[in-house]
Amino acid sequence: MSTLLITDIGSLVTNDPAHGTGPLGLLQDAAVVVEAGRITWVGSAASAPAADERYDAGGRALLPGFVDSHAHLVFAGDRTAEFNARMSGQSYSAGGIRTTVAATRAASDEELDANLVRFLDEALRQGTTTVECKSGYGLTVADEARALRIAASHTPETTYLGAHVVAPEYAEDPAGYVDLVTGEMLDACAPHARWVDVFCEQGAFDGDQARAVLKAGQERGLIPRVHANQLSYGPGVQLAVELGAASADHCTHLTDADVAALAGSDTVATLLPGAEFSTRAKYPDARRLLDAGATVALSTDCNPGSSFTSSMAFCIAVAVREMGMSPDEAVHAATVGGARALRRSDVGGVTVGARADLQLLEAPSHVHLAYRPGVPLTAAVWRAGVRMA
Ligand SMILES: [Zn+2]
Repeated sequence: MSTLLITDIGSLVTNDPAHGTGPLGLLQDAAVVVEAGRITWVGSAASAPAADERYDAGGRALLPGFVDSHAHLVFAGDRTAEFNARMSGQSYSAGGIRTTVAATRAASDEELDANLVRFLDEALRQGTTTVECKSGYGLTVADEARALRIAASHTPETTYLGAHVVAPEYAEDPAGYVDLVTGEMLDACAPHARWVDVFCEQGAFDGDQARAVLKAGQERGLIPRVHANQLSYGPGVQLAVELGAASADHCTHLTDADVAALAGSDTVATLLPGAEFSTRAKYPDARRLLDAGATVALSTDCNPGSSFTSSMAFCIAVAVREMGMSPDEAVHAATVGGARALRRSDVGGVTVGARADLQLLEAPSHVHLAYRPGVPLTAAVWRAGVRMA
């Protein structure tokens, strides 16, 4: 098996404080050796071992690939008109998620797969090497199962979100829909999913319904994660912590008790600033969560309705500008934070034994991700040691 030496790295983010300075474990003038898809050596370029191949980073910054732990990428159609109306100040009540559900149900497997591949490639070209992918635009037994089957052929991080909203056919019988989600639909979806998720929100599922969905998933071996406290205060965060969820996602409206619960738990607070950006809503307060000691992740929430971006760099820039995060904290949240939200230790860091998921920036420092918003800085991407972009 051949070895690859990436050397003359001006600034290396390892996310291992044992390797360098600060929580990012920053190393200057660094080198990395990759073999069989894994990192086998990290250290000073001056003491790097010989390798079969050599890549000269030219003094630029190398980081772990981004870990996008929250995305909705199995869908068809788009919602340009809805976004345009919203941004033009018109009230827009019709359509919404049901527009995407109708288009997704009408699409062929091949169309859904091609759409997903297009977004995964788009993310990869921007430095994202791990992507979580939810169902939730089918809302029938067959359509949810096929969404997860298609997602599972591209990522192990698949999430059953039959409880995204109540399916239109059950508008008058939400309890019947929860029975379906916790019964026949779960049976069809569990073999293709690692996680179970629920949109716990006014207008979606209340605390008791959300608990039923998550517990049913747990009984089938799925691990909970929760769309929590996005649009209003509510029980989502407390429920996530109580059930040992890997992540509570959105966390925009938090009481002091919610913040304390997250800080005292292993549940990661996943913040999704693309959603607030795209709906002109109030941003979550990352500073408050970090100061309390909670683990924070940043993700795109990429979806056609409320956050149609696949750019983790964009999320970092917004988190720094609007949410009280330092550039170091935002980069940490977009890499190892996402890995923790997915309970992964093999991605999100540049350490010996980790998967060689790496991104080189056309910049001397990771800080440029926030300092140069909107500029495409990705110069090269490796996934499991293979050059992808
Ligand atoms: Zn979401």
